[in-house]
Amino acid sequence: MILKKLKCSLALPELVKITQDPFRTLIMTIISQNTNDDNTERAFDNLSKRFQITPQVLATAEKSQIEECLYTGGLYKNKTKTIQSASKVILEKYQGNISSILSLPLNDAREKLMEIDGVGPKTSDVVLLFSANKPTIPIDTHVARVSKRLVLTPEKSNYEKIRSNLQFLFEEKDYLSVHLLLIALGRKYCRSHRPLCVPCPVSTYCPSSKQGIQHG
Ligand code: SF4
Repeated sequence: MILKKLKCSLALPELVKITQDPFRTLIMTIISQNTNDDNTERAFDNLSKRFQITPQVLATAEKSQIEECLYTGGLYKNKTKTIQSASKVILEKYQGNISSILSLPLNDAREKLMEIDGVGPKTSDVVLLFSANKPTIPIDTHVARVSKRLVLTPEKSNYEKIRSNLQFLFEEKDYLSVHLLLIALGRKYCRSHRPLCVPCPVSTYCPSSKQGIQHG
């Protein structure tokens, strides 16, 4: 019921545009760590204008030039390091193509992606869901917060607990929509501070809803 209501009430965020190429999705997701969408987009655009987004090019590019492109995305030094080491691993272990990882069963593919320095569960799940259509739900800060407020998962759930609870509650065919719609709900209504419970489209199903009162 919650999903139906969300589908009727919210536009899907534009994250879908990162779906085409798994390596681009990987790089975009690394850039998005700990920063907002506008900054991610700006940094990714800068990088795409200066370099071809391939492991071959990024592994050997001048570090300072990548840093310059990523400056607006924050943590640009760490992200540059991660991007270059991921590119090198993909070149050396997978001949520059991560399709062989994506064709593995979900858990094996997650494991292989997470062996790459700086690639954690969220980045792996984004790549696997968006670029390989694998049945997994990436958990970002919006998804985590909203899932807890809607009591789709206990308050103290960690990443894996939230993911497994959501995957239990929803059908596989809806995983992409669940991910995108919970992000949209978190951005528009269920914000970290002062969530907008009154106009929120799922307030009638939400145990945390404070109708008429804004959360502090
Ligand atoms: S009713 Fe309030 S707490 Fe519940 S999902 Fe909506 S905005 Fe979040």
